[in-house]
Amino acid sequence: MGEPLDLKITGLSKSFGSLQVLRDLSLEVPDGQFITLLGPSGCGKTTFLRILAGFEAADRGTATLAGRDLLALPPHKRPVNTVFQNYALFPHLDVRENVAFGLRSKKIPNDEIRRRVDSVLEMVRIGELAARHPSELSGGQRQRVALARALAVEPDVLLLDEPMSALDAHLRHDLQLELRSLQRKTDTTFLLVTHDQDEAIAVSDRILVMDGGSIVQDGTAEDVWDRPVSKFVASFLGRANLLSAKRISASSVETPLGPLSVPRDPPWKEGTLAIRPEDIEIRDAAPACNGVRGTVAIRLFRGDHWELSVECGPVSLRVLTETDTHHEAGQELWLELSADDIQVLRD
Ligand code: ATP
Repeated sequence: MGEPLDLKITGLSKSFGSLQVLRDLSLEVPDGQFITLLGPSGCGKTTFLRILAGFEAADRGTATLAGRDLLALPPHKRPVNTVFQNYALFPHLDVRENVAFGLRSKKIPNDEIRRRVDSVLEMVRIGELAARHPSELSGGQRQRVALARALAVEPDVLLLDEPMSALDAHLRHDLQLELRSLQRKTDTTFLLVTHDQDEAIAVSDRILVMDGGSIVQDGTAEDVWDRPVSKFVASFLGRANLLSAKRISASSVETPLGPLSVPRDPPWKEGTLAIRPEDIEIRDAAPACNGVRGTVAIRLFRGDHWELSVECGPVSLRVLTETDTHHEAGQELWLELSADDIQVLRD
């Protein structure tokens, strides 16, 4: 065992002209973690990966791997490799030679190259496609070749730039499972950037939510889903219901729905609460606490659940229910917004 290949980034900033794309980004990634930067289009995810890969220079900040200055190395000397959204395969080379490419440039003996290429092609389960050219492959197969090529050189950190965004939903789902298992098998640090929350939740040990070039929340998938810290995170992940609120006491607030009990003392006089659509319960009678009367305005069948839009006075709440429940548009009902399921946001 060598030294742990921990990645440490401090104060990384980058602007293009007057547009600041990365703002003082700092994070530490322990060796072997699957970490995902999740954020909307344009929040700086790709720029961050390009700086780590050496395709773009930072204005300020440092990045070290096992204590070694990464940014001082030319791109081809960095112990990182990137899988791009558009695969970027060499069209004139067959699969085997595409995968062998990085190894040949490292002057590794032919026997060793053959062994490593065979092993990595098996790992991503495309051994039988070794003699084909990229034009003879499906999108999913091309992305497997790109993954194999990136893993063949055994990078210390694998950077993945929205690698599945061009694939259909089924394939994406399959590849997510495989990506996770590949990461476990190779024990390599994977750093994925995506705007797809399902993908981030499915594969990551840890999610960094990004907004406007900054990391706004850092935690496990459960942390960011169950305990969003801000309006941005609560609405970006799972589209939580947001309610404006005024603090009455350490355990209660006034909202457009009336007074509600909250699980912790709000850190503000006026702020926001979030409640997930799946956490709102429909009741036959008024619940003892945090009950809200509403009328079903819209009902959509989503395959594995119903999505209701319930008008509660001035507020419309999104509510998800089981498929075996039946609530018609126009029906009046009671909702329970259990205090335990309410998130008191910081803003
Ligand atoms: P997406 O998910 O759409 O790829 P992203 O989060 O990866 O978005 P970036 O590609 O990092 O975002 O871009 C962040 C911002 O920087 C965008 O507004 C983009 O237009 C701008 N930008 C990126 N590269 C350059 C460049 N070379 N010159 C000028 N502006 C750039």
